[in-house]
Amino acid sequence: MASDWSPESWTNFEAKHLPAYEDAEALAKAEAELGACPPLVFAGESEALKGELAEVEAGKAFLLQGGDCAESFAEFAPDTIRDTFRVILQMAVVLTYAGSLPVVKVGRMAGQFAKPRSSDTETQKDAEGRDVTLPSYFGDNVNGIEFTPESRRNDPQRMVRAYYQASSTLNLLRAYAGGGYANLRQVHDWTLDFMGRSPWSDKFHSMADRITEALDFMAACGIDPGELPQLQGTDFYTSHEALLLPYEQAMTRRDPGNGQWYDTSAHMLWIGDRTRFEGSAHVEFMRGIRNPIGVKCGPSLDPDVLLRLLDTLNPARESGRIVLITRYGHDKVEANLPKLIRAVRREGHPVVWSSDPMHGNVVKSESGYKTRPFDRIKAELADVFAVHRAEGSYPGGVHLEMTGQNVTECVGGAVAITDAELSSRYHTHCDPRLNAAQALELAFAIAEMLQP
Ligand code: PEP
Ligand code: MN
Repeated sequence: MASDWSPESWTNFEAKHLPAYEDAEALAKAEAELGACPPLVFAGESEALKGELAEVEAGKAFLLQGGDCAESFAEFAPDTIRDTFRVILQMAVVLTYAGSLPVVKVGRMAGQFAKPRSSDTETQKDAEGRDVTLPSYFGDNVNGIEFTPESRRNDPQRMVRAYYQASSTLNLLRAYAGGGYANLRQVHDWTLDFMGRSPWSDKFHSMADRITEALDFMAACGIDPGELPQLQGTDFYTSHEALLLPYEQAMTRRDPGNGQWYDTSAHMLWIGDRTRFEGSAHVEFMRGIRNPIGVKCGPSLDPDVLLRLLDTLNPARESGRIVLITRYGHDKVEANLPKLIRAVRREGHPVVWSSDPMHGNVVKSESGYKTRPFDRIKAELADVFAVHRAEGSYPGGVHLEMTGQNVTECVGGAVAITDAELSSRYHTHCDPRLNAAQALELAFAIAEMLQP
């Protein structure tokens, strides 16, 4: 790490999408409180994830990253956490079987609160039809979603509340991951149960049946997934966008073991498409922490800029350190992805290529809701897989906004959520998520793409 880096050196760089706090004293108090809180993860775990991502990089594993666009205080509930975790496991079983590869599971969970917004303000009509302009909603760890001046005020204590929510979310995830809940047979039985009730399932029954046969075969050989430690639990990691730098800085600690800095708010952090520009405070912060780092790559990212970014973030060219998360839109993959793949290969930078088919495919529905058509999400993934095949690179992972709840936020899928239905269960605090059925259906679709 460069000697001129420190957890606060980002304050000398250009910071976009950071909230202005009116009360400096209140901010300092919240930061001090967070600084005294226990780390949520420890260095050894982030290093273990890096090791697993190095396997993905080598084409020997597949990365599944998913969860809410924005976690919220309102949706915080044990069932919400359990259901999202469960769907991720179900998807992982399908992908493991189809790809004959281990799946590295990383939640957008236990800390994914802060949101970059295209505009600092939002205007709505009041009861008399007059325009009212207030600050935008920046995520529950910054201000409230309710459209009132009080709620939209930035409150540093929200960071502390978000920390405690992340901590209890992580506690439950750790219990599920290690406590037998993630037993392979059980996870597959949920999938069968779910498929039994779903009209879309016919198409995927043969793969599900083959997974059942594989489990039966193991049982016949005397291998009981319920008893074998490797099949009983699972490694589950957490991640979020490292956007709210005062929070990330307060959670950044030097590991007493190896003397290196880690952001202990999550195992993996990523830099958003809007904050990965040259000279950005977010890039400065990320280059000094030793966690695995994601970089969102949208259509505006020039290959030379990416190469300089990689030199800054990974000068030692460590394997498993960088995940490039491409997010173009269903019709922009071929124009953008090949040039990045070629540039990265030419310079020999080790990276995991992951695909976020969500953020380039947002459309405004006729009913006025922000939505994402399922077919476009699938089409972007299919294109990404095809481009990597053609370029000889490895499509190592997917990055999804999804929930285990039965929401109606993305249109389409075999259960076919229609435009008119969006209003019935549209709960997201930011972008539209795949619901449980859509997420599982997408896993089967990706499984087909993974087949040689
Ligand atoms: C996100 O992942 O929620 C996000 C804002 O993505 P992006 O930076 O790719 O727009
Ligand atoms: Mn989002």
